[in-house]
Amino acid sequence: MMAAARPPSTAGKFVVVGGGIAGVTCAEQVSKVLEEFDVEEQPNTMLENRFPNIKIIESGVKQLKSKEHCILTGDGSQHVYKKLCLCAGAKPKLICEGNPYVLGIRDTDSAQEFQKQLTKAKRIMIIGNGGIALELVYEIEGCEVIWAIKDKAIGNTFFDAGAAEFLTSKLIAEKPEAKIAHKRTRYTTEGRKKERQTKGSAGNMGSALGPDWHEGLNLKGTKEFSRKIHIETMCEVKKIYLQEEFRISRKKSLPFPRDHHNQPVTTDKEVWPVYVELTSEKIYGCDFIVSATGVTPNIEPFLCGNNFDVGEDGGLKVDDHMHTSVSDIYAAGDICTASWQPSPVWQQMRLWTQARQMGWYAAKCMAAAALGQSTDMDFSFELFAHVTKFFNYKVVLLGKYNAQGLGSDHELMLRCTKGQEYVKVVMQNGRMMGAVLIGETDLEETFENLILNQMDLSSYGEDLLDPNIDLEDYFD
Ligand SMILES: Cc1cc2nc3c(=O)[nH]c(=O)nc-3n(C[C@H](O)[C@H](O)[C@H](O)COP(=O)(O)OP(=O)(O)OC[C@H]3O[C@@H](n4cnc5c(N)ncnc54)[C@H](O)[C@@H]3O)c2cc1C
Repeated sequence: MMAAARPPSTAGKFVVVGGGIAGVTCAEQVSKVLEEFDVEEQPNTMLENRFPNIKIIESGVKQLKSKEHCILTGDGSQHVYKKLCLCAGAKPKLICEGNPYVLGIRDTDSAQEFQKQLTKAKRIMIIGNGGIALELVYEIEGCEVIWAIKDKAIGNTFFDAGAAEFLTSKLIAEKPEAKIAHKRTRYTTEGRKKERQTKGSAGNMGSALGPDWHEGLNLKGTKEFSRKIHIETMCEVKKIYLQEEFRISRKKSLPFPRDHHNQPVTTDKEVWPVYVELTSEKIYGCDFIVSATGVTPNIEPFLCGNNFDVGEDGGLKVDDHMHTSVSDIYAAGDICTASWQPSPVWQQMRLWTQARQMGWYAAKCMAAAALGQSTDMDFSFELFAHVTKFFNYKVVLLGKYNAQGLGSDHELMLRCTKGQEYVKVVMQNGRMMGAVLIGETDLEETFENLILNQMDLSSYGEDLLDPNIDLEDYFD
């Protein structure tokens, strides 16, 4: 390996920055095809052991000099590349920086910090309406939760109002004892402690947590009750006051709203460490605030002196070969913004599966380019598919599951059994364009195929969702 031959500077043919799922997948894949390359920030030696042609450098990238084809790391060394893949992920978009009472959850460290704070909390506020917020409100026990969302309905990143209503009833119900079995492979965070100690002063975070991130975290506050949630819709945070600031302001905060089966556990007289004023003018005090309002791609270390095209969401724009606008530089995962003309039933979402697919495909493109070969777009970008779990229900999202970008000439078909399943299909010109499947519907494979093959389903009408018809037989 070149890194060993010429320390402290290395000249890997391929350099991958980032030890998250995108970076690791990219590194693994490219190393199978080609001979030499480097990875930054991979926490343990797993990759090196499996792929002796990978050299891991545990130091954050401080600067990128694209004209010279080299990166500078926090430990003062420089690494020359022939092709570079940036997989530095994203960081939580906090509602305010530098406030000790505002927590973001991104990696194992921040999730553990959140858990620690929660054990001392009587009331917290959760701001945001994405996947992390949804999972948190369902999992937290023994602590009052005020959940502020800017939309009309919960989880609008993933659901329409109907699905939100289906899920809300589950949120209000008492928590069941048994959980559904996990269908996904679990990841492990072993080796993280060591990495943290040895990490340079780059101030970088660890990799983002993936599916099942809260398993193993005890999300319990100080009190003995299951769930106490109050949802404030259509509002955002206007101002955050620390205790003394609030006292001086002479403003009044609201008690935790009571409903028929919820006796408040906190009194009207509580003095809180922090207060949140919402745009609806309501003010609530709490022990701390969780800011779960999305992520911002980690592009800063790479920008200075390099002419990257940056997307509206702050990611590095990549074309259909995961190539950025700067020569020989690729990007994959949360850091990038997919800027190719996508398939009609795919869209980018900053998710674990997409980060992995992008890492894998970027490696293929880098290797092919190095060998002067061409590559076809990977089929994983043909259809958007995401499987997750919300409120202990299996949730499958396919294609344009929320009719994203379809205009007004689409139709929805619904099937719902309260407390059991919610099935929504998005149709356009007789073709299935997307679906939301909540519960054990067993429809995902058939629907995936129907969306992919764009078969004309006009003649089937409502039969498509008739529970008495076995669709698999129908379309075999
Ligand atoms: C709490 C939480 C729950 C989630 N739940 C789900 C879920 O249920 N399902 C799902 O599909 N997705 C989920 N996601 C999203 C998913 O985790 C991310 O989309 C995915 O992990 C992104 O992978 P990545 O490799 O692009 O970035 P990351 O995992 O963020 O990895 C980035 C890597 O780059 C390194 N790095 C950063 N800056 C530098 C630098 N300057 N120099 C060198 N290295 C650097 C970091 O240390 C890290 O190793 C969740 C995210 C969070 C935060």
